[in-house]
Amino acid sequence: MKPLKRFHRAMLSLGEEIVERLKKHYSVEAREYVSLFAYLRSRDPYEVLIATILSQNTTDKAALQALERLEEKVGLTPSAISKARRKSIEAAIRVAGMYRSKASFLQETSRIIMSEYGGSMRNLLLGDPGSVRERIKGLPGVGDKTADVLLTTTGILQTVPIDTHVGRVAERLGLVRRGASYGEARASLEAVFREEHRHLAHLLLIAHGRRVCKARKPLCDDCPLTDLCKYYAEARGAKTA
Ligand code: SF4
Repeated sequence: MKPLKRFHRAMLSLGEEIVERLKKHYSVEAREYVSLFAYLRSRDPYEVLIATILSQNTTDKAALQALERLEEKVGLTPSAISKARRKSIEAAIRVAGMYRSKASFLQETSRIIMSEYGGSMRNLLLGDPGSVRERIKGLPGVGDKTADVLLTTTGILQTVPIDTHVGRVAERLGLVRRGASYGEARASLEAVFREEHRHLAHLLLIAHGRRVCKARKPLCDDCPLTDLCKYYAEARGAKTA
């Protein structure tokens, strides 16, 4: 086997090992992932988009509260949000923080869906996944991560969306180069995780980042990945040097 092929195989089996170990360590509860929660209850990509925008720079718990209040006070359709008073949207989503800019993104996005896609988010998602990603990224408030969460959660395209937890854990494990751009980091993780594992890998890496591989002080003694981790090897090497 050629060295490059052998390397790709080794990366993929590393990915499988990571997923298997994390699966034994964590259970994925939908309410802890607002985008997944929105998808499982509605199968509606528009709701997933709204949930993902609400989750930017806040916790999934706060985003879920905002989503539920928005549904109750305004409604969760492009028509309802595009016609609502801005102040009503702001009041409903206040708990998620940055509520003024998020309300503006939600309303502008909803107006675009109404005027350009016949009121249906599904029309925006037609076509090949690459051009769909670019179309989604053209919506107000939607960057790489939000687009990837929407694509992966709805099953349109399997990738590994990189939020703060995924980026940090992947970097510590040595799966992603320190200082890599979003696109480079995503390509690195796609080389590690098979398509069918990518969404689950994303969710499990988030769980790991929240509970064990914490930002300020990782709890390496509780980690099932120590023998695979670059950060751990370097820290241990530094202690024994
Ligand atoms: S060994 Fe420590 S740094 Fe490495 S993944 Fe586990 S918790 Fe994070």
